Amino acid sequence: MTWNELKGQLVVVIVALLTTFIAYTSQIFVIWNFLGGASLHTLLILIPLNVFIILLYINYALVCLTDPGCVPENWVPDTQTHMEVKRSTHEPRFCKTCNNYKPPRTHHCSTCGRCVLKMDHHCPWINSCVGFHNYGHFIRFITYIEISAIYLFVLLGCRLAQVIHQMNEYNVHPPTLEAAFLAINLILSFAAIVTVGILSGYHVYCLTTNTTTIEGWEKGTALTMKSHSGKISDVKYPYNLGWYRNVCAVLGNQPLFWMWPQRMQGNGLYFPMRLQGEGEKRASTLMHEDTSEFATLVRKPSRLHTRASTSSNLRVPTTPASVLTFNTTSTLVDPLFTAKLPSSSTTKETAIELPCR
Ligand SMILES: [Zn+2]
Ligand SMILES: [Zn+2]
Repeated sequence: MTWNELKGQLVVVIVALLTTFIAYTSQIFVIWNFLGGASLHTLLILIPLNVFIILLYINYALVCLTDPGCVPENWVPDTQTHMEVKRSTHEPRFCKTCNNYKPPRTHHCSTCGRCVLKMDHHCPWINSCVGFHNYGHFIRFITYIEISAIYLFVLLGCRLAQVIHQMNEYNVHPPTLEAAFLAINLILSFAAIVTVGILSGYHVYCLTTNTTTIEGWEKGTALTMKSHSGKISDVKYPYNLGWYRNVCAVLGNQPLFWMWPQRMQGNGLYFPMRLQGEGEKRASTLMHEDTSEFATLVRKPSRLHTRASTSSNLRVPTTPASVLTFNTTSTLVDPLFTAKLPSSSTTKETAIELPCR
């Protein structure tokens, strides 16, 4: 085992121990006595908290132990579906390090040393990448951290208010051990609420817009380029199917079980895509009614070599999974797809490009 591998595993152990420390020293040394010891009232308050903590542990184990998804050996792009291509050459995206084609939304993680399906980010706290198969576990994990931390903080805050009242009114001081754990856990739970809260807020945005963290950066870059270049008319994103379908795609189709641990559906190699702009409605309808009719950007990878490109003076960011819409003569929509649309659809204004780094 290398030092880096050992360090990664140590971080996971530290996170688990820190969680245990906050969760149980708070209850044992502060909250239990504050609530009056063993009673129905105490149980009714502590049982929900401990259910959240157990779900936190389960989802932490799942996000750490579930492989985020790797590219199957000898995988080649399916010519019957859309695929991302390199902007510069219009060739299929290919990882020279792993020596394999990259499915849509796949990126190479230099830390893991391999390509990861629908890579979101490499997370040192789980010693792994967050990708297609463990993103749902990750969402549930950070949600349960946030819920548990708020729950604990409220209980500890009530005890702090009581301590201050007793000191002021009756000059009664809490035991030193309790005071120490009260102060430490108030600080730690507050820190967790703020830091994980910011992270959770961002991932609510990612979840509801079907965006990965990497794609979020790229959309930001593309929008910056748009604001500095009059030649880019718009920046659109094809994987956003509407917030409800986006959430279902990660947490499952049954809202009642969104927060219950479950396996990811699908294989992470293909994703439904919505064309936006003019012709959006028709393209979307095609996709919903029959996926075999869905827009095909590429029939054969070799065609990409010979495809006409956008005019050479267009300055577009070299970012993967960004969709840029240009308003003139872009030719990145496959003619086969164009031909499927009714003549009323002005698809010539919908240019799609899914370039690669
Ligand atoms: Zn790779
Ligand atoms: Zn990684």
